[in-house]
Amino acid sequence: MKFRFFIALIMAKLSIPALKLTGHNATDFPGKVALKICPDFLKYVAKPEKIIAVTGTNGKTSTANLIIDMLKRFGVTTLNNSRGSNINTGISTALLNGVSILNKEKYDTAVLEMDERSAARLFPHVRPDYMIVTNLSRDSIMRNAHPEYIRWLLEKYVPEKTKLILNADDLMSCYMLPNNERVYFGIEQLATDTVKCRNLIDDLQICPKCDHKLKYEYRRYSNVGRAHCVNCDFGSPKYDYSAANVDYDSMKFTLRGPDFEIELPIIDDRLVNLYNETALITLLLQLGYTIDEIKAQLGTVEVVKTRFNHETVGSMKVYNVLGKGLNAFAESRVYETIVAQPGDKELIMFINDLGMAAHWSENVSWIYDTDFETLNVDSIKKIVVFGDRGLDYRLRMLFAGIPEEKIVHVMKADDAIKQVDIQPDMNYYVLYGADPGSFALGNKQAKALAAMLREKTAKLVETDEPVETAEEEPVPEGSGADEVQIEAETVEKAGEEAQS
Ligand SMILES: [Zn+2]
Repeated sequence: MKFRFFIALIMAKLSIPALKLTGHNATDFPGKVALKICPDFLKYVAKPEKIIAVTGTNGKTSTANLIIDMLKRFGVTTLNNSRGSNINTGISTALLNGVSILNKEKYDTAVLEMDERSAARLFPHVRPDYMIVTNLSRDSIMRNAHPEYIRWLLEKYVPEKTKLILNADDLMSCYMLPNNERVYFGIEQLATDTVKCRNLIDDLQICPKCDHKLKYEYRRYSNVGRAHCVNCDFGSPKYDYSAANVDYDSMKFTLRGPDFEIELPIIDDRLVNLYNETALITLLLQLGYTIDEIKAQLGTVEVVKTRFNHETVGSMKVYNVLGKGLNAFAESRVYETIVAQPGDKELIMFINDLGMAAHWSENVSWIYDTDFETLNVDSIKKIVVFGDRGLDYRLRMLFAGIPEEKIVHVMKADDAIKQVDIQPDMNYYVLYGADPGSFALGNKQAKALAAMLREKTAKLVETDEPVETAEEEPVPEGSGADEVQIEAETVEKAGEEAQS
């Protein structure tokens, strides 16, 4: 074995305590060091016997976390990159953490979330036994071009022996790598499905085999649904495992397999997460767990009945929601979910991709792929946007027919929350982007908004007079975009809720 590899392993391992001591994130850098010293690091580092990869445009982090959590319940500790990046440096860091200084593997199973575009660097050396592809849909044009390009990339590099776990409802990914062994999961027809496409993104209208028109039996959103070619035998594949009788009142669904039908708990009431749950169960069945064992463990998972993190202030709620900027497909799902929730709403948008602003090269075309039209409903009372990018949002919303008087633009982020109307029963949605800057800013502003509402509510109780909404608010200085580190941090529950 290469001398260079061992130098890389030792140096990378030595960097971990040093990084921790200096308060740095040790989830990506050690892998960078290893790859710098030994570009073939991934080839030589020992790997667990069983490798499970999770990729796809949306839902890969949630799905990978579900798998890690569920395997833990089954007593399997996994090597994983859940705390690091999902590209080669993060995966290298995870793998080097999994071996001793003599390159002896400590784990039997790895669960690796993989960025779709890392295929070329990873798959020559990391060869998954199972790979879940959650879906392939339109993402940032700059990073991901078109989903067909991503599919081509995966088809080029995924090993032949990898067994695929594919979403039968996603026409973009379900027919990839026809020579690989595969299992299909999906969600059967829902009452809310339609025949006509309601979304701006409609990426699969033509048969990929013969270029004739595809006929959709029904659509859930965009090209997710079931379709067949009017000319050849191409069509959505049959399910091996499907979710049916989806009931969000009882939080139960039926899972249909080839030789069983069983009622299971829905562990999170967002539809996208039911796909993730179904993918998880399909994987566990491949790993040899029985459906009864899986049901017993699912029963111990805490069911998430509130869709988003939120803080309650009297009768008002402040939601802190990830809106995936640059990803029109995911962003449209977020708007659908918000609008489907009961009550009046005000939105405060911090999805400004601040992390990219310093070296901006992304165009704003994704805003025009996003279904802003969904927000043009009576229950949305106000939308606050900020900064230069806020003007782009404003223009897009005007195109979507949203009345001008509902849209408020401010230049400074700190001024945004001062624009909300304090109303009983109002739901405030603070949307943040996936980049560290927007993430930190959104979290901070959601907390500031809840604090402001608490203070105003307390004042209202004391004076018994109507409150003013503007000025003298205790909004923290600066946007804070640079100072706050990314952490899997959520809005803390309101411990000191205003009493009314
Ligand atoms: Zn065809």
